[in-house]
Amino acid sequence: RIRGVAESVLVVGLGRFGSSVATSLVEMDKEVLAIDENPVLVQRWSSQLTHVVQADTTDEEALMQLGVSSFDRAVVAIGSDIEASVLTVLALSEAGVPEIWAKAITSKHGKILARVGAHHVVYPERAMGLRVAHQIVGTMEDFMELEGGYGLARILAPTVTWGIPLGKSDLRSRHRITVVGIKKPGMGFTYADRETIAHQGDEIIISGSVRALEKFSSLPH
Ligand code: ADP
Repeated sequence: RIRGVAESVLVVGLGRFGSSVATSLVEMDKEVLAIDENPVLVQRWSSQLTHVVQADTTDEEALMQLGVSSFDRAVVAIGSDIEASVLTVLALSEAGVPEIWAKAITSKHGKILARVGAHHVVYPERAMGLRVAHQIVGTMEDFMELEGGYGLARILAPTVTWGIPLGKSDLRSRHRITVVGIKKPGMGFTYADRETIAHQGDEIIISGSVRALEKFSSLPH
């Protein structure tokens, strides 16, 4: 029996996504209890993760025996088996886990997960697909949507930003974006403030609505 401590996270499902979440958490010094019903995966991950157990997480009794109710956070990383994903979220919700994250494959799947108690629903394939599409199209070097059509992009500084301190550039009122970071060639990223001046060849990080980011990133640079 493993008892959850405040900083520990329960990860259900050691597929590609779940195992990546679990190993990242371990690298961030979080304690992880990982559960998968597949003994091969349990065996494979047992050396890299501190606690890995084999169990069917749709079985409420089994979950209780593992002490899941003492965990503050859980990630349900079951994708393809929608029934197992929904029942697991429901069981964790009924066990009173206060923060449940769940991976969804489709919007309908995500809707159901939210209904049965997931506090955060993530769509890793969709988010990565969108990001790669933006990178392929070529106007953004990197892109991340945060929530509700708002995001961050890494782009080459367009000509409209060259040579003027950001505080005098009117970028917010004219283009509805904010420059949050800047990178001079050969240097690392640093924060941007009112006095920051971008020049040809600099990279900038901008925040704003996805539409505004797309428009701004296609300006000449
Ligand atoms: P990915 O696309 O990230 O690889 P999958 O949906 O393929 O995700 O993997 C989900 C993982 O969850 C699999 O390793 C599977 O064994 C596990 N899993 C599925 N159903 C259950 C369940 N009821 N209890 C525990 N683990 C489960």
